[in-house]
Amino acid sequence: MQRIGVFVCWCGSNIAATVDVNAVSEALSHEPGVVYSINYQYMCSEAGQNLIKDAIREKKLTGVVICSCSPRMHEATFLKAAAAAGLNPYMVEIANIREQCSWIHKDMPTATEKAIILGRAAIAKVQLNTPLTAGESPVTKRALVIGGGIAGIQTALDIAEAGFEVDIVEKQPTIGGKMTQLDKTFPTLDCAACILTPKMVDCAQNENINIYAYSEVAEVKGFVGNFTVKIRKKARYVDETKCTGCGLCTEKCPQKKVPNEFNLGMDTRRAIYIPFAQAVPKIATIDPDYCNMLKNGKCGVCAKVCTAGAINYKQQDEIIEREYGAIVVATGYNPIKLDNFDEYSYSQSNDVVTPLEFERLMNAAGPTNGVLLRPSDGKHPHTIVFVQCVGSRDTSGCGKPYCSKICCMYTAKHAMLTREKYPDTDVYVFYIDVRTPGKSFDEFYRRAVEEYGVHYIKGMVGKVTPRADGKLSVQASDLIANE
Ligand SMILES: Cc1cc2nc3c(=O)[nH]c(=O)nc-3n(C[C@H](O)[C@H](O)[C@H](O)COP(=O)(O)OP(=O)(O)OC[C@H]3O[C@@H](n4cnc5c(N)ncnc54)[C@H](O)[C@@H]3O)c2cc1C
Ligand code: SF4
Ligand code: SF4
Repeated sequence: MQRIGVFVCWCGSNIAATVDVNAVSEALSHEPGVVYSINYQYMCSEAGQNLIKDAIREKKLTGVVICSCSPRMHEATFLKAAAAAGLNPYMVEIANIREQCSWIHKDMPTATEKAIILGRAAIAKVQLNTPLTAGESPVTKRALVIGGGIAGIQTALDIAEAGFEVDIVEKQPTIGGKMTQLDKTFPTLDCAACILTPKMVDCAQNENINIYAYSEVAEVKGFVGNFTVKIRKKARYVDETKCTGCGLCTEKCPQKKVPNEFNLGMDTRRAIYIPFAQAVPKIATIDPDYCNMLKNGKCGVCAKVCTAGAINYKQQDEIIEREYGAIVVATGYNPIKLDNFDEYSYSQSNDVVTPLEFERLMNAAGPTNGVLLRPSDGKHPHTIVFVQCVGSRDTSGCGKPYCSKICCMYTAKHAMLTREKYPDTDVYVFYIDVRTPGKSFDEFYRRAVEEYGVHYIKGMVGKVTPRADGKLSVQASDLIANE
């Protein structure tokens, strides 16, 4: 049986205002093995640490429980104090009665009861602890980055620059992520591709970086510093070592009607495809859901036209096992599905588009070659309404209760780019609040209003209705005009 000392901290009023610290130290004094139990205003202070040190020596403690703040805050402090008094520091346990108790509860009797339970659990743990000696274990000096968007790309470049090997695992056939689909970027209105594509090329050329595109992590085992990871490299049905990215197969494939995910389904691609001209790696991929050869054994055109002999209809998924010391997860985001927002008529009218679709419509490499046309009839729209906060700050359960933090900014960008390219187009933005926290962000929004004459209206859009004449009616409130 251990000889355990319990030290309950008030953390000023942070703990003591909600937890009855006298009741906690009294209750815990009766636990098996506890020979000493006190409470004190600030356990982490020098006086508090001295209380612990003196008790370890005088009461011949073999274990210590501190009921205080999160171990993230003061674990090192308390372990050091115990070691200074001659106790093995791994015989100290912390019960977090602040973050997990006083800060999240209001009712003192219940918070006190919970603090006692947390204290008991820590005492039970100390009973089972054995003294440990700190050691060192080797760390694999290679890193894995999951997700090859701009975040994963920059992470990989930074790690490689620091002199370490790094692998990027990206589930799409190319790295680049959502930024490949953007036209220009706030707050500078630089061309997205001009920032992104050189970094994609840097990744491909950096000898410390290895890209596993069209791949996913199948299994992670091990522990910090020493992970063993299985990567599933999906079959492209194209030999990466032979394909030159010439694109001939993508011109000759007879399966022409495959929705093109790069342009969000607003145009089509072939069954064999290279996502876009600047793809990295620039290698063709056969989509097994649409390829005639893979579906029913009839075709083989791509194999006939490929002079590099790269097509391999028998290719299988491959599992690669690699060791890593660190893993960075940079898997980015997906736009919200609009199924729950039928009031905006997204499913009823092609002229209601998402912001990412708008990026593609404005982009020179997009489905309309960068000419802003109404998807329904190919005519130029003379009035555009932007509806902000769809799915954000939504407590109805259809969306997310929090702010996306980016739609105010990209809407200001879309509004400005529209007015710049098409000064004859009236642009309205309906908003709850304009939130622009970031360097030069508010100035950016002010430019939309003051320089580009974008009409910002404080109010929500209630309904979008397709009309018989092909236009859309938008019903919204204007809270400032009270209309
Ligand atoms: C309409 C719109 C306009 C925007 N405009 C701007 C702008 O002008 N300026 C600006 O600064 N920001 C803008 N943004 C925000 C910007 O797009 C993002 O901040 C940025 O692209 C996020 O990069 P990321 O690498 O974190 O994520 P992503 O670009 O989403 O990349 C994540 C990558 O991880 C991959 N992945 C996901 N899951 C896995 C998995 N399990 N295994 C392997 N790979 C996986 C994905 O395929 C993807 O390639 C805009 C956003 C939108 C929606
Ligand atoms: S698979 Fe052959 S034809 Fe197709 S892009 Fe690669 S090298 Fe060119
Ligand atoms: S074999 Fe498949 S991918 Fe190749 S050309 Fe035919 S349909 Fe297209």
